[in-house]
Amino acid sequence: MRVYFDHAATTPVDPVVFAAMEPFFAGEFGNPSSGHSFGRTVKKALEEAREKAAAAIGAQPDEIVFTSGGTEAINMAIRGVARANRDRGNHIVTSAVEHHAVLDTCRDLAGEGFEVTVVPVDEYGMVNVDEVAAAVTDRTILISIMHANNEVGTIQPVAQIGALARSRGIYFHSDTVQSVGKVPFRVNDLHVDMISISGHKIYGPKGIGLLYLRRGVRWQPVATGGGQERGRRPGTENVPGIVGLGEAMARLSVHLEKEAPRLAELRRRLIEGVTSRIPDVRVNGHPTEHLPNIVNFSFPGLEAEALLISLDIKGIAASAGSACASGALEPSHVLLAMGIPRELARGSLRLSLGKDNTEAEVDYFLSVLPDIVARLRAVASGAAAPVFR
Ligand SMILES: *Cc1c(COP(=O)(O)O)cnc(C)c1O
Repeated sequence: MRVYFDHAATTPVDPVVFAAMEPFFAGEFGNPSSGHSFGRTVKKALEEAREKAAAAIGAQPDEIVFTSGGTEAINMAIRGVARANRDRGNHIVTSAVEHHAVLDTCRDLAGEGFEVTVVPVDEYGMVNVDEVAAAVTDRTILISIMHANNEVGTIQPVAQIGALARSRGIYFHSDTVQSVGKVPFRVNDLHVDMISISGHKIYGPKGIGLLYLRRGVRWQPVATGGGQERGRRPGTENVPGIVGLGEAMARLSVHLEKEAPRLAELRRRLIEGVTSRIPDVRVNGHPTEHLPNIVNFSFPGLEAEALLISLDIKGIAASAGSACASGALEPSHVLLAMGIPRELARGSLRLSLGKDNTEAEVDYFLSVLPDIVARLRAVASGAAAPVFR
């Protein structure tokens, strides 16, 4: 049995999305900036994708800027506002559990003279709105706090943070890469000025994403070149990718209505099964404010790397945290920020469910896990030889 429990790292392209993209590789190959008929057909598809993407999040089409993915959208949001508002201030507020795309961009800006305050999270990985308010100064120009965390699934009080930001005249960006399609929201309800979305996390293709940029935000482009995307993101557009992202976003309502409750039930079955079969296990993340598809466990007395290898041998794909962090020896910055001791953080496993996962797959995982955990714990404690099987 091959089981994919790593949808927070990437998802397969939905066959409907793939079918929508296909004509735009070789058949409809025109450059959307060309005035002739080849270009016009493609331009029309591009604008239809923009309308679908905007409708899915309650935005206007001209507020959608297509990018090469979540990382680029995040860079554009943070750098674009920081540079354009330097005369108003140099202070940025973010959280300790952000994706590296946010944290490293803020760190980079700190090297350019910006001041960055990283607000902490509680034991469940949640940011406290009062701490965000306390971090704000007269020099604050931007707050960037993610909607849902990619490692533990905790959902942040983004609407309240957005309301705070707006009342203080501060721009607000939220990384919604993991929440879109899992948690229903519209940009106006969240009071966001910018959000970032990635195609490959929502059954669209890799290498495409978007920045929602509210009308009127004082912002400047990060790259220079042609006038594409109204001058906000120059470069010939990834047309098949954009068409695919538009289609993936048009299908989000299906995931919200049909898939989210089903995934929540599978997640509940996983937690029930793991905690009842394995002694001494901890579930990381918020008990109620969490994504329906992510669960993070800590198994004291073992290393996640060994656990992942053993699961892989059984055909099960999971992760030790974020895809970017696994492989590195350092435990996850998210778990450490939640106050989880290093030894425990090193033995943490993230399972992220998706639309093709079944109850039978969950049960298969539950049937192989107890043996693996027991054996790795015995090895770690010196009671058994380190053999993978
Ligand atoms: C995957 C991810 C990103 C990066 O998106 P890419 O399209 O892979 O660049 C950013 N933030 C979060 C929370 C993610 O899970």
